[in-house]
Amino acid sequence: MPFDIGDRHVTIEEYAAEKGIAYFRAAHEINILCNEAAKKRADNMTAAYDPGPIPPSLVRGKPKPFVYSYTLLNNYANVCPHQTYRRYVKKDQPFVETEAMRWGNKVHEALEYRLGGKPLPPDMQQWEPIVAAFDGRGATAEQKLGIRRDGKPCGFFDDGVFFRGKIDVALINGSTAYILDWKSGKSNYESAFEIETNALLLHCLHPHLKKIVGAYAWLKENQLGQLHDLSDTNGTWQRVMELVDQFEADNTWEKRKSGLCGFCSVEDCENHFVARPK
Ligand code: SF4
Repeated sequence: MPFDIGDRHVTIEEYAAEKGIAYFRAAHEINILCNEAAKKRADNMTAAYDPGPIPPSLVRGKPKPFVYSYTLLNNYANVCPHQTYRRYVKKDQPFVETEAMRWGNKVHEALEYRLGGKPLPPDMQQWEPIVAAFDGRGATAEQKLGIRRDGKPCGFFDDGVFFRGKIDVALINGSTAYILDWKSGKSNYESAFEIETNALLLHCLHPHLKKIVGAYAWLKENQLGQLHDLSDTNGTWQRVMELVDQFEADNTWEKRKSGLCGFCSVEDCENHFVARPK
């Protein structure tokens, strides 16, 4: 989308290429130029009548501030920077809901209802023992939380939200919290980073917490993964900010060839192929 920077309209990609700078630096500079252009327009209009400065919310056509999530940062760090750029920055990839995603959403919804007191559907009864452990203990389900860039808590959809996430299950008992994340895929590989970011969001909202632990519930295998200590939320925030810094300074968006290219939506990439169903 082109933005009005005063003397012309330009997209962030064009501006970045013209100046030889990274995408996020270009977005930042365009933001400033849009503000200046809007101010100039307002100054011209106020020659006869001065209604005061234009409220920032009325300055149209500015790039939207970027909101980070575990999914985005994990995709950037562990899948492919170029795919991340196309999905989240350039946004030219169509959203296609796969069968696995549909099933995952259905499972999350059923478990959320179960925590709210409704029974699990007949084809999910095998998970009753896991979810029954939370009965009557005040656990929250599918809690949406956000953090501002200065580390302060905010709403998931608030203006100025910088990082956000959804916690499948959280149980707080005094200064201790337990987090559980439902996983409908296979447990081939387990990294704590997702629930570490959940712990970060929870700790930000409840600063009195001293200990946070958590696990993944591997539903296909009907078992809990290992218990992770997630209490080092300062370390998690640092890791998040390191990834954000790398992402914002990136102007090459490496194409990282791997078996995952077979499931990628970027069909114009030379590494793309269609994986055969197993
Ligand atoms: S096909 Fe592979 S290298 Fe190309 S964007 Fe997709 S994941 Fe990255």
